[in-house]
Amino acid sequence: MNRYLRQITLPEIGPEGQRRLAEARILMVGAGGLGAAALPYLAGAGIGNITIVDHDTVSITNLHRQTIYTTAQENENKAALAAAYLQNLNPDISVRAVGEKLTPENMERLCAGYDLLLDGTDNFDTKSLLNAASIKTQTPLLTASVNRFDAQIGLFDGSKEESPCYHCLFPDLPTDARNCNEAGILGTTAGITGVLQAHIALLYLLGIKEVKSGDFLSLNLKSMRIEKLRAPKNRDCAVCNNTCGETQLIHKAKNEKISTASAGSPANMRKPELVALKELTGTTTLVIDVRQPEELRADPFEPHIENEYMSIPLPELPARLSELPMNRNLALICAGNIRSAQGAEYLMARGFNTVCVLDRFSL
Ligand SMILES: [Zn+2]
Repeated sequence: MNRYLRQITLPEIGPEGQRRLAEARILMVGAGGLGAAALPYLAGAGIGNITIVDHDTVSITNLHRQTIYTTAQENENKAALAAAYLQNLNPDISVRAVGEKLTPENMERLCAGYDLLLDGTDNFDTKSLLNAASIKTQTPLLTASVNRFDAQIGLFDGSKEESPCYHCLFPDLPTDARNCNEAGILGTTAGITGVLQAHIALLYLLGIKEVKSGDFLSLNLKSMRIEKLRAPKNRDCAVCNNTCGETQLIHKAKNEKISTASAGSPANMRKPELVALKELTGTTTLVIDVRQPEELRADPFEPHIENEYMSIPLPELPARLSELPMNRNLALICAGNIRSAQGAEYLMARGFNTVCVLDRFSL
C-alpha cells in the first residue's frame, strides 16, 4: 500500500479504489508510441493484470517516442520488452506479453476476459478488429489515434444498447490515412496522447462517473486545443446494431468495407485483397513497390521477395500504366498497406483485374 500512498490519499480513490485497480484486467494492443507512454502509468497505478499484444520489434526510428525501449534493444519484440519494463517498475502486478499480431482468427481468444481493451495501434484494420472484438466480448474499448499534431481518444462500448461503437463515429474508414512512419510525428504528441489514454483508463476503472462510454476527446497539439465531444450511437451502424451475424461482423471488420447506406461509396465498388508474402511465393505475380526512392534505400524489401519486383512510386503510377501487363497478377506493396491499397484500387478501376495488396507486415 505504501507504493500507492500518494494516490490512495485522493478521496476519489482511497483503499476501495486501489482494490478495484488491483482486481482490474486490461489488454493493451500495441506497445508503440501510445502503448509505451500509457503502460508505465497503468502499471505504476497498480492495475493488477496487464496483457500486452504486439508482434513488432524495436526500430531505431521508434525511440524518439517509445522511450521505454533502449538503443541496445533494437530488433527485439516490443510486447516482451514492455512487459519486462513494467514488471521491474511494479513487481506486485501480473504482466503478460503476447507477441502475436491481432487477426480475425485470434481476436476473440486474445480479447476475452478483460475489463477494458486499449487500442494503441496505428492502423484502421486493427482498430476495426478491436471494435468487433469489443462488441463480441462485451468489453469497452478505449481507442487512441495520432496523426501529425492531431490526436483522438474515444471510449466505446458498442455491445450496449445506448452506447456507440467506434464505427458509429467512423462509418467509412479513411483509406488514405497515413501511419506515423509515413506522416511523421513528434514524440511528445504520441506521449501526451498515450498518457491521456492511461488517465482515462484509470478514471473508467475507478468508476469515476465523469467518464462515460461515448466520450471522445479531440486534441490539436500544435494549437493546444482540446475538445471533449459526445459520440451518439448510430442506429444505422452496420457493426454494432444486431442486424448482422457474428461471421459477417468479423468479415466486415477484416475487410474494412463497413459503410452505412449514406456513407457515399458504392456498394459494388471492389476492394483489393490483402495477401501474405507466403501466398505469393512460387507464383508469377509481379510485385510493385509504390514507396518513394528514399524509403526503398532505407528499407529494401526486394531481398525478401522471390517474385519479379519493380518500383513505381505511387504518384508516378498514373503516368506509368503502360509499363504494367494487363494479363498478369499484380501485387502492390508500401510501408503500411495504405498507399498500396490506394494504388491497387486505382489499377482495378482502370481494368486491371487481378490486383492485390501484398501485406507489408507479412515480410
Ligand atoms: Zn456502431
